[in-house]
Amino acid sequence: MLSYRHGFHAGNHADVLKHIVQMLVTEKLLQKSKPFIYIDTHAGAGLYSLNGEEALKTREFETGISKITHQQQNSVLDDYVNLTQEYMANQQYPGSPLIAASLLRTQDKIVLMEYHNNEVVNLRNNLRGLSFDAKAAIHHRDGFEGLLALLPPNPARGMVLIDPPYEVHTEYDQVLSTVKQALKKWSTGVYIIWYPLLSARAGKKSGMSESLCVQLAQLNCKNLLDVRMQIAANTEDAGMYGSGLAILNAPWQLDDAISQMLPEINKLLSNDDFQATSDCTWRKSE
Ligand code: SAM
Repeated sequence: MLSYRHGFHAGNHADVLKHIVQMLVTEKLLQKSKPFIYIDTHAGAGLYSLNGEEALKTREFETGISKITHQQQNSVLDDYVNLTQEYMANQQYPGSPLIAASLLRTQDKIVLMEYHNNEVVNLRNNLRGLSFDAKAAIHHRDGFEGLLALLPPNPARGMVLIDPPYEVHTEYDQVLSTVKQALKKWSTGVYIIWYPLLSARAGKKSGMSESLCVQLAQLNCKNLLDVRMQIAANTEDAGMYGSGLAILNAPWQLDDAISQMLPEINKLLSNDDFQATSDCTWRKSE
């Protein structure tokens, strides 16, 4: 298994939405001086070339980061643009580990898990020598098992990004069961779970993200904020027509910060054929 390589998808519309939301959650945690932990269960390689073979084969970055420009007045987007701009100048796109590492302070901690033999080597190489290298622990292990083994974490404040490839339909159940067990060990953590919006072509998987969200909302969490964006019509053959993030134990006023930036992103990620749309809704509230 493990045939998925994020290099084919780096910087696409789903990465843009995911990484902006990751930044907004991180910024909420940064508002307090107390240290916190960032845990990435499916870290990937950390940095991706946009002019390499994989990216150029699919050109998915053209659905996302290539469309994000600096002309906007929205300060939330400006943070993301500033962060990605230096990498884009070298035809590169930063993954979630580098985004986290660039925002966290010396008192904060980063734990990155990646199961793929080559990707974990790439991850180590891509973080080596950077000033924030020292505060990141990289584990070559299954992120589901690894997360449960690490909880409750020290420090006890923090966030988890769960970003599986969903190559096989059993990963949806694995996410649900892992988050259920994780909440028992660490009820106060912020859990961000990425999911794809898949058309009928995906068969059984096409309805599984919605069902995952419904079941996540029934878990023992304080709240669940669901953010989704659709960038293409949901026709039978559309494939991945959008994506979403289920955020459990969302920080105070995260919904406002996300709702503020969504209209800008919609505008930027739209194309002649389709006007992008998005939603930010509480599936469970306090
Ligand atoms: N989170 C990354 C980002 O936003 O930049 C992208 C991650 S990519 C969608 C999913 C990654 O999970 C791949 O690199 C894949 O090799 C890895 N992976 C797949 N199954 C895994 C598992 N059970 N545990 C840890 N990593 C896994």
